[in-house]
Amino acid sequence: MPNLIFAANWKMNQAPADAAAFLRTFTDQYPRQQDRRVLFFPPAVSLHAVLQGVRERSDLEAGVQNIHWEDKGAFTGETSGPLARAAGARHVLVGHSERRHVFGETDEETGKKVVAAFRAGLTPTVCVGETLAQREAGETIAVVKRQLRAALAGVDVASLVTAIIAYEPVWAIGTGKTATPADASAVHVAIRAELRAIAGERAAVIPILYGGSVNKSNVETLLAAAEVDGVLVGGASLDAEQWLAIVRAS
Ligand code: PEP
Repeated sequence: MPNLIFAANWKMNQAPADAAAFLRTFTDQYPRQQDRRVLFFPPAVSLHAVLQGVRERSDLEAGVQNIHWEDKGAFTGETSGPLARAAGARHVLVGHSERRHVFGETDEETGKKVVAAFRAGLTPTVCVGETLAQREAGETIAVVKRQLRAALAGVDVASLVTAIIAYEPVWAIGTGKTATPADASAVHVAIRAELRAIAGERAAVIPILYGGSVNKSNVETLLAAAEVDGVLVGGASLDAEQWLAIVRAS
């Protein structure tokens, strides 16, 4: 079973033609590696192009960046879990800091989206992380645990052990500032302990990714840190050459 995950969050970038060109460059130069999976989170309008680009590669998977917690209805502008799944998504980001801090998504809404993701057959990558003010106030672990508990509140253990968790300190996202491997590791260890408290020993298999200004220069030291099972990458995943260097890291 591959044990490392490299996830690309393209945010609001990469039109369908750009996504197709990216995947051509990427798949040409990246043969399958047995120990890792690569996930792409394009904008929903480019999901089809990504799926076409990865169709012969079971080590490359794709998902959407957000879903609504309802399955259907009068929610103009939203995408539901079943719609995303029917369009070919296998994964969904839930609780990304931009959803929380730009769009005001609450812990409770994040929890409802995680439940909706599992209901639709999508694997949620549940994002948690503290702001700079919370870190400076010594609240990092408490904030992350609270977000995790709220996000996973409605989920049974059998589903929970198939989720992916991403620790993304808000102050490190898109800022060029990265947590030190030791800081990241300390939070990942606390997340693992919290997951064990919820799900018992089976929580050992849940991947915990680090995200926040990861690039080709810092990825190897972050991956070497305890309990870091992969990375979730925004800006540096937009350039195929840089992304290739990141996914080849050991
Ligand atoms: C992200 O969007 O999840 C992210 C980590 O962004 P960046 O790598 O640009 O900090």
